[in-house]
Amino acid sequence: MHTVLGFTAVVDNPDLVALFIAPGWPTMRRTGVFGGGPRGRMLVKPDGGHAPRAWVENEALVLYRPHDAHSVWLYWRAADHEFREWYINLEEPWRRTPIGFDSRDNLLDMVVTPDLSEWRWKDEDELAWGVESGRHTADEALAFRREGERALKILRRRSFPFDRDWPSWKPDPDWRAPILPAGWDAFIDNS
Ligand SMILES: [Mg+2]
Repeated sequence: MHTVLGFTAVVDNPDLVALFIAPGWPTMRRTGVFGGGPRGRMLVKPDGGHAPRAWVENEALVLYRPHDAHSVWLYWRAADHEFREWYINLEEPWRRTPIGFDSRDNLLDMVVTPDLSEWRWKDEDELAWGVESGRHTADEALAFRREGERALKILRRRSFPFDRDWPSWKPDPDWRAPILPAGWDAFIDNS
């Protein structure tokens, strides 16, 4: 596992998983030597460790329909709960674990304006780097893009989760930062 995020589960049923995270809530990131890929953002030499890093700036609600190869994130600026954007994260279908869910980010993403009227690909260069560096095959990269195109059709049809006014959703003000459960590091994969 590359990144660990401490969420509160808002919904967990067979049709929908919704998870919430807010500034200050715990995450763990891999450590090692960065500097690869576009803008030098990619970790090129993991050292096997993780370091805590708090989530910052935004409140986020992740909406996931089981078996999909993408999740839909809503971002609000935490300071005033202003809705900023929809974000489609392409990723492997989630696997349930004893302490949460596990997935793998597929590099390419999509950003959608608050009113759903415009969208764009994000991090196409990271996916290209992923292929060049042998982390993904060209076929895999194509499959990620196809999933994005499928998500785009869903968006245009205003099907789930774009069929509901999720931007008006608000977190319970009593929710507090969770503590990462023991065993968060049991699924470490440094590939
Ligand atoms: Mg992503």
